[in-house]
Amino acid sequence: YKSIALLTSGGDSPGMNPAIRGVVRAALNSGIESVYGIQRGYSGLITADIHKLTSRSVTNIIQRGGTMLKSARCLEFKEPAIRAQAAQILRDKNIEALIVIGGDGSMAGAHLLTEETGIPVIGLPGTIDNDIPGSDDTIGFDTAVNTALDAIDKIRDTALSHERLFLVEVMGRNSGFIATQVGIACGAELVIVPEYAFDLHDLCVTLAQQRASGQGSSGIIVIAEGKDPGLTSRIAYQLEELGQDPKICILGHIQRGGSPSGHDRMLASCLGASAVHYLLAGFNDILVGVRQGTIVDIPLRKVISEKKILDRNIFDITTLLHK
Ligand code: ATP
Repeated sequence: YKSIALLTSGGDSPGMNPAIRGVVRAALNSGIESVYGIQRGYSGLITADIHKLTSRSVTNIIQRGGTMLKSARCLEFKEPAIRAQAAQILRDKNIEALIVIGGDGSMAGAHLLTEETGIPVIGLPGTIDNDIPGSDDTIGFDTAVNTALDAIDKIRDTALSHERLFLVEVMGRNSGFIATQVGIACGAELVIVPEYAFDLHDLCVTLAQQRASGQGSSGIIVIAEGKDPGLTSRIAYQLEELGQDPKICILGHIQRGGSPSGHDRMLASCLGASAVHYLLAGFNDILVGVRQGTIVDIPLRKVISEKKILDRNIFDITTLLHK
């Protein structure tokens, strides 16, 4: 390959910038002559908002959150005719392959693009949700977990001072990876995820016993946002019915920003460089991810057709560590 392009798509995640840097530097240092950055994900691809990047363009971004290429959701890209136009734009610019950094939706777009048009694509898992099948980890997950923990440690101070129960809603789309890791690491009294059933009653009995015995009865319940936007309010209502007076805190977009952690910078840099290696080795239609500490390739078809399972044994630890 002499000329490739890259884009970031879907929700931004901390570590997208070091991934961009990894791709650009590895490509230019491996004999690829031109690397193009596409602005705003697939939106910038179909409007040809495409600019050459140099080694200098990615200076001083390794520590920055967000994505220097910007990200967007582009519904038109779900149409085959639009993807054909996108491929033509790449061909017109003599761009021979595309690296896509994003979540599962972005991988679906990348897979269809190569299947229909023959443009080689490599995907990188850029999402805080850690919900990409075949990869143990995703770029941004570690930072998002640490950001949520920082916030919950502060909420815990108030929970303890006022002997209150707090419901803290974290991100994660339809999966409970962030909630589980955050819940274990903040010592939550209960973790609620879309994957597994939960029981409010037991927690309320414990809190009531603690109150009756003169101990403080504060607590943190971590809830994964899930598909249902009203879930957290409904749980609060159920808790009120059970005699509690919970406060709700929705962490929201705070979790997506911020300087990437050391772990995410390392992961993003290695995956960015590896995406280029896989491309130069002739791979196509794959995601470059990580499994048991090793960089691996996973067919995009598999990535988009499967669902990553939240390990039941790990989830059960959320209930095993209570007083
Ligand atoms: P995150 O998990 O962080 O939200 P994501 O990549 O899953 O990231 P989506 O909004 O689902 O985010 O997808 C990003 C973009 O990928 C969409 O706006 C669209 O341009 C493209 N895309 C998503 N699904 C498809 C699909 N089925 N076919 C073609 N393109 C798609």
